[in-house]
Amino acid sequence: MSYLFAPPPPPTLPILDSDQVFPIRRAFCVGRNYAAHAAEMGNEVDREAPFYFLKSAHHVLFADGGEVPVPPRTENYQHEIELVAALDRGGTGIAVADALDHVLGYAVGLDMTRRDLQQDSKDKRRSWDTSKDFEYSGLCSVLCPPGKGARPDQGAITLHVNGALRQSGDLADQVWSLAEIIADLSTLYQLEAGDVIFTGTPSGVGPVVAGDALLGAIEGIGTLNVQLR
Ligand code: MN
Repeated sequence: MSYLFAPPPPPTLPILDSDQVFPIRRAFCVGRNYAAHAAEMGNEVDREAPFYFLKSAHHVLFADGGEVPVPPRTENYQHEIELVAALDRGGTGIAVADALDHVLGYAVGLDMTRRDLQQDSKDKRRSWDTSKDFEYSGLCSVLCPPGKGARPDQGAITLHVNGALRQSGDLADQVWSLAEIIADLSTLYQLEAGDVIFTGTPSGVGPVVAGDALLGAIEGIGTLNVQLR
């Protein structure tokens, strides 16, 4: 047996101060995880259960210092700065108290969104796939291990566009903690090493266009510089 064509290499993220790279298996994304962002989108926060959507692993990439194309078919392409967690251990029924033991490291991420298509999908009660899961939609920095001081539960999270502050929040304001998210996801899925989680965005989301320079930062974790083309 041989492959009909060469399979693509697995998507990966670099790890701070390591020669090894992290192979990405799946990318889970959390919706409405900061009350102020939920409010700006016209939603109330729901503490009954977090909700999720997914991005294809090949749509997630290391983008720090790189150029990223603006996708086609949108007139309202928006940034969402997010904490990303990368798991190197899987499981089901993971307890909240054990959840962070499954995390290899954290990255600064951008959940790029075709907001116009998302609004149309919401209006028509359709899925978010075309607004959230497209090429270059999951942008990440290098992964910073917890041992280097990175933590998921507190710290400033900001995004500047062309030097102007657009988003500003604190990880402490997440509706669902990362540990709660991992525990909940592990009741829906068999989590595996290689899974990554985009944990939601604080308020201040807005449009960007080709030529814009994005600078994301999370205290204790790192920065993410992206040029749009
Ligand atoms: Mn998001």
